[in-house]
Amino acid sequence: PDATMAAVIAGEEEHVAHNYHPLPVVIARGEGAWVTDVEGKRYLDLLSAYSALNFGHGHPAIVAAAQEQLTRLTLTSRAYHNDRLGPFAAALAELCGKDLVLPMNTGAEAVETGIKVARAWGYRVKGVKPDAARIIVAHGNFHGRTTTIVGFSDDPDARGDFGPFTPGFVSVPFGDAAVIDAAITADTVAVLIEPIQGEAGVIVPPEGYLRTVREICTRRGVLLIADEIQSGLGRVGETFACDREGVVPDVYLLGKALGGGILPLSAVVADRDVLGVIRPGEHGSTFGGNPLAAAVGLRVVEMLQTGEFQGRAKLLGEHLATKLEELVGHGVTGSRIAGLWAGIDIDPAVGTGREIAEKLIARGVLAKDTHGQTIRIAPPLVVRGTELDWAVEQLRVVLAG
Ligand code: PLP
Repeated sequence: PDATMAAVIAGEEEHVAHNYHPLPVVIARGEGAWVTDVEGKRYLDLLSAYSALNFGHGHPAIVAAAQEQLTRLTLTSRAYHNDRLGPFAAALAELCGKDLVLPMNTGAEAVETGIKVARAWGYRVKGVKPDAARIIVAHGNFHGRTTTIVGFSDDPDARGDFGPFTPGFVSVPFGDAAVIDAAITADTVAVLIEPIQGEAGVIVPPEGYLRTVREICTRRGVLLIADEIQSGLGRVGETFACDREGVVPDVYLLGKALGGGILPLSAVVADRDVLGVIRPGEHGSTFGGNPLAAAVGLRVVEMLQTGEFQGRAKLLGEHLATKLEELVGHGVTGSRIAGLWAGIDIDPAVGTGREIAEKLIARGVLAKDTHGQTIRIAPPLVVRGTELDWAVEQLRVVLAG
């Protein structure tokens, strides 16, 4: 980065804990699929804040909903009712085909909430022995950063020196339904999976996996909890990644794009027989369900009701898939794609994922590496096909050295 950018980065590094290793670009403005840095250089944003910006930066309809609410009422806490939470919950429940919504803020909170709900359901409905509840998760999972959640991660950086961890989780290989069936015991209350593993590098399980896991969970009396925090809300060309196999989980965990790229908003969505187990005083959050977030979330749900964004993701994704296929053997060893969401494995001979991401910055493209050799692409769903073509061309040039 040049002088201005370097100074801003140095200033930030001075007083911000180094829990991230950001790419060296300082963004000052954003509009649609594009951002502008502090020196006026523009970049196409192919990451969308890990899918939190599915509708792009500053989508006028979402900004309008936020602005209208901002001057009316922003926060009440759940000590009182507010006039925005009910309409938001009704719309989101309908989008999910479920009865109830439990609003939280971040993705990790939604996951924690899902775990508590599943355990309470296990004890109160299924009749599991006290403190014996088990939840099955998948190798390579990423569900967030709280102590309970990192306890069932298999990423050494995530777990590191953060134990001791919460017991009650069993991890099995992702993509193999039979191992889930074999791992279920009388104390198993839930299977918690990402229908497509995002942070792991956009790992799409074999066709039929989700359907079989659904059948197993139904047959064995175990809740299927789908963490759709990154995969859901239009990203894969359907409203949910589970829709790709016509699967309806018992519990949806949603976040990221639910907040319209404006604020943190997450939710657990399930039917009354499951989410209804939570009683007053057992769970909550000061900001969860606040009127500002609810107003934004309601607008997001309304935008998804038309199917426009899901359709864009599907069409553009098919186009992107053919473009990425052409790179295999030219600095790319393989790629996986679902809707407008791709993991591109970089040939170590041309560099690491990080090195490629840094070179892309110089060419006006923002993408993020994950797990060393993979570049993950999740452009805002408002991106144009021609812009995607241009970005893939920049990647081709970078890979060609
Ligand atoms: N679950 C999944 C599938 C995610 O991808 C993420 C974030 O990347 C989370 C949960 C955690 O969300 P948050 O960072 O908002 O806590």
